[in-house]
Order: sequence, then structure tokens, then C-alpha cells
Amino acid sequence: MKTIERVEQAQDVLAYVDGVYQTVKDRNPNESEFHQAVKEVFDSLMPVLEKNPVYMKQGILERIVEPERIISFRVPWVDDQGNVKVNRGFRVQYNSAIGPYKGGLRFHPSVNASIIKFLGFEQIFKNSLTGQPIGGGKGGADFDPKGKSDMEIMRFTQSFMTELSQHIGADVDVPAGDIGVGAREIGYMFGQYKKMRGGYEAGVLTGKSIDSGGSLARKEATGYGTVYFVEEMMKEKGKSFEGSTVTVSGSGNVSIYAMEKAMELGAKVVACSDSAGYIYDKDGINLATVKQLKEVESKRISEYVTIHPEAHYFEDCAGIWSIPCDIALPCATQNELDEMAAKILVANGVVAVGEGANMPSTHAAVQMFLNSDVLFAPGKAANAGGVSVSALEMAQNSARLAWSFEEVDAKLHDIMKNIYRNSMKAAEEYDAPGNLVVGANIAGFIKVADTMVMQGVI
Ligand code: GLU
Repeated sequence: MKTIERVEQAQDVLAYVDGVYQTVKDRNPNESEFHQAVKEVFDSLMPVLEKNPVYMKQGILERIVEPERIISFRVPWVDDQGNVKVNRGFRVQYNSAIGPYKGGLRFHPSVNASIIKFLGFEQIFKNSLTGQPIGGGKGGADFDPKGKSDMEIMRFTQSFMTELSQHIGADVDVPAGDIGVGAREIGYMFGQYKKMRGGYEAGVLTGKSIDSGGSLARKEATGYGTVYFVEEMMKEKGKSFEGSTVTVSGSGNVSIYAMEKAMELGAKVVACSDSAGYIYDKDGINLATVKQLKEVESKRISEYVTIHPEAHYFEDCAGIWSIPCDIALPCATQNELDEMAAKILVANGVVAVGEGANMPSTHAAVQMFLNSDVLFAPGKAANAGGVSVSALEMAQNSARLAWSFEEVDAKLHDIMKNIYRNSMKAAEEYDAPGNLVVGANIAGFIKVADTMVMQGVI
């Protein structure tokens, strides 16, 4: 193609992408997180559309941003004092081109349509990257599990599932956990689903307890997977976790198992956090204490310093990024790492950043890392280990068998290596060598887009 034609085509593509993005903003006003997630993917796709105009002709972008279905519902429940409470529940069934909708449920007061749509949209590409046959979905409620009794949690999750049970199924939509939803909540939801449907359909939810058909290594999968991915990324530059100083935000499921694997690989993890603040233990965090506080006692991370007085506690969780480290793993929540934090990390000589959470770095922070030659692993790729093992749980449920921890962990490791390789390859092919943001978006997109073309305009 002549240069002039190529320039004209690039302008057409830009106009098309801008137009679709504008429609997304107009149709979904005041949903900034959702806009942010769409923009990040669209920014990566220009060269793909230039090479494959068929995606424009087939309206792939217009279709992929519009969820196949959104369910929003009332979740009434009764607290321990006998008061009636009402929360809002959601399930977005975003894209089923390559498999049943798959994605977690988040219980957190910040949950709204924007949050669920951003998460559901990202899930499409993440799930595609795993190489497993799973479409994209997400759900949750604006329910705050903090301070609730076990019985309140049970009554809430049962009410939530009473409605959700009408919309899900092992071949339709398979929810799992996310922030505020762990094995306990999945257990209550599975029980309620079973009661409502009158059958033992193990494959309808993942993240179940082992005796209800859950998979070994599912609990560890997201955190371990993030570290496997970052390990792969660093290996290429002759670097590793061995002897590195690491900070990991959060202290939930993802964070705890990212810390565990990083330590196993010889790193010193010096800080972690919760929504109230962070702890700094310069000689290395005692993970057993964090597990006891968070997994068993549901206490604040500030309690850590009463057990280990040599450590320090600071209020304001975002301050964790001011601690000098070689590797930073944001494993808490969206937009927890902004441009200012990125600047400080870079100034302190950070070598690699791996996102264990979904969209934890703001757009400006990501640009800062990319422009400063920091090895950057975007969440869509780096935190795909959780949903990958969920897909392995579905496979075990279908076959009515259970694999050993080692088998699942080995498969997880392979999947993470493949995601890394495929993302690098796509980045190379589309003129952005080494840029894993672009590579992951493109590799995730192409498989879904091609499948959508083959399945017709639906
Ligand atoms: N919530 C996790 C995620 O963001 C896991 C989803 C799943 O296992 O289905 O990918």
C-alpha cells in the first residue's frame, strides 16, 4: 500500500474507534471506570483494525462493548436485629463467543453498573488469553461484608442466589469469587442454588470447597499466577525474584498468595496493606501472621504491629508505593496506583510491576511505567491465573474427577507462561515490541473477534 493510502486508512480507523468510544460514553454516562477500561483496549486495537478491516465491517467493536445481557436485581435480607435491608445485585453476561460467561462476584459498597461493566469487559479478554473455553461475565452487589455476622452473610448470599439462580448454569454462566466473596460465600451460594434447582450441578460455580467439587490450588491461583507471570517477564531480562525486595498491596486472597510465591522464589516482601493502611516490616513480613489476621480472624492489618512491634503501621493505604522496592505487585483494587505513586516507584528504581488486581494502575501510571522502561505486566494477563484454574475446576467437575495440587499448579504455570508468550508475540507482530498492555489486549481480542465473525451477527 502506498504511504498516502496507509495514512488515509489509519485516519479512517481512528475516526471509527473514536466514534464507537464516543457512543460508549454517551450510552453509559457517568461510568468512568467502564470508559477507562474500554479506552485502554481501544487504544491497543488501531493496528489490528488497520490490518483486518473486516472487524470494522462486522461491527465487532460496536458489538463487543455492548453486554449481551445485564441483570440488575433487588436483594432483600434481614439483619441480626430484625431490620429489613435492601441491596442491589448485578450480573453482566458480557460475551459468550468462546464459552459460557465466566467471572467473579464482588461484594463491596463501591459496586455499581460502571464497576461491574469495567470488570466484565476486561474479563472477556482475560478469559480469552487463558486459552480456556470461557466467555466474559461479572457480577456482585453493593453489599458491605465488613462487620457482618456469619448469619447475616448467609442470609444475604442466599437472597442474592435466589434471584441469580434463574440466570446461571454450568453451560450458561459460571460465577466465582472476587473482592468480598470467598469460599464461605461460594459455599452458601452453592447450597442455595442446589436447593432451588433440586440437583447437584457442581459446575455452576467455581471456587467451591474441595468436598463440594472445588479444585485444589484455586485459592492460591491468582496470586501464584501473578508471580509466575512476572517471573517469566523478568527472566527475559536476566532478572528474578531471588534477592529482590517486593511490596504487595492488599492482604486478601490475591495478595496473600502472591506474597507466598514471591517468598518461595527467594524475595523479601516488606509491605502489604488493607483499605485502612499499610504495614512495613523491613526484614520481611511474617506471612503466617497476615494469614492468621486476615483469613482466620478478619482483623485489620494494623494489628500486625502489636504482634511484631519491630514493624511499622501507616494510615492511608496508597502510601505503600513510597517504599523503595524492586518489584511492586498491586493486588488490592482498581485505580489504587496513580501517576504520583508511579513516579515515586520509578524514582526509587522499581524494575517490575505486576498487576494482581483488576485495573489497579491508572492510565497515567501505566504510561509512566511504559515510558520509563519498567517491566509492566497488565492485570488482564498477570491476574488471569485465578480464572484459569476456575476453568480447570469446571473441567474436573465435568469429568467428575479431581486433580492433585501439583497437577493443577503445573497446568497453571504453563498457562501463565503461554499468556506471556502469546502477549509478547502479539506485541511484536503489531509493532509494539515488549509492550504487554498492547500485546495482551490484541491477543485476547483477536480470538474473540474471529469467533464473533464466524458466529454471525448475533
Ligand atoms: N474474580 C477473578 C477475576 O477477576 C476470578 C474469576 C473466576 O474465577 O471466575 O478474574
